[in-house]
Amino acid sequence: MNSKLVPNPNDGLDGPAVGHRKRGTSGAAVEASTSTRPTPSGPTVGQRMARQRTRDTGPEVALRQEMHRRGMRYRLSWPVPGAKRRTIDVALPGRCVAVFIDGCFWHGCPVHATWPRANAEWWAQKIRRNCERDLETDRLLADQGWRVVRIWEHEAVTDAVDRIEDCLRELRTSEVER
Ligand SMILES: [Zn+2]
Repeated sequence: MNSKLVPNPNDGLDGPAVGHRKRGTSGAAVEASTSTRPTPSGPTVGQRMARQRTRDTGPEVALRQEMHRRGMRYRLSWPVPGAKRRTIDVALPGRCVAVFIDGCFWHGCPVHATWPRANAEWWAQKIRRNCERDLETDRLLADQGWRVVRIWEHEAVTDAVDRIEDCLRELRTSEVER
């Protein structure tokens, strides 16, 4: 979720404190409407948010570079078919493969998801909603014949791209069998 070819101001999935992300147009206005967000109460939350803001130069970029190096051609911020306000982080539309790079904090990574103690319930709810939305997006895509590869931001880039390659290979195999 970051600088994409297509501006996507309605995407609130990544939560607050992302006003400085490079994005198309009116994203900031939408972010501002989530004004019930508690103020970050300690360095931990602040660090998480800082990490979130650097995703443009972080795991997602590294992943895209490795995909490109292996000859995959992709599109960013590709619309989820049948869902106006959702986009696929990195899409291979020709193959109907959708890749999402999920931030450990915002998407409730089982390894790293430790919720801030202050305002714990607010954060827990927020992250639960994100997870539910992720599942719903996966279902929507599956219904349209897409394959979904979800990658945690903590995953090694080569492992992550291996998984995408596996998915593409399976697709090729099933095409041959048909
Ligand atoms: Zn993680």
